Amino acid sequence: MHCAIQKAEALDGAHLMRILWQDGAESVYPAVWLRDNCQCPDCYLDSAKARKLLIEALDVNIGIKGLTFDRKKVHITWPNDHYSEYEAGWLKKRCFSQQAREKLQRELFLPGYDVVPFLFKHSPVLSRASFLHSLNLNILTTDNVLL
Ligand SMILES: [Zn+2]
Repeated sequence: MHCAIQKAEALDGAHLMRILWQDGAESVYPAVWLRDNCQCPDCYLDSAKARKLLIEALDVNIGIKGLTFDRKKVHITWPNDHYSEYEAGWLKKRCFSQQAREKLQRELFLPGYDVVPFLFKHSPVLSRASFLHSLNLNILTTDNVLL
């Protein structure tokens, strides 16, 4: 896949991570979102494609303690020394850039109609979506909408 990492760094007091891709594009990811989407066996149940980390256990003010990267992966250490790895392709697909957001909006939502609060009202499964929606990170609800 065409998504090698050129540079990854923590920004905004470590509350954001910015990736500069080899092709010159840039993506920004909130630390809280990265922590919530940790793919390690302690946090994520691959067989069920579901998160194990409880939303109550998530610190919305979490910052990145340590960050290293290579072309294919970003490695993050959290304040409690939890360790997460994110593959370049996985991150690229969930890119928070304006362009990617707009593309997803077009694909997933009817123009001018925010589907998330409606779905949440009718499905307790989407409580996480609602929480993340309150952070104004609408794109984070994508996984839930697709469930
Ligand atoms: Zn984890």
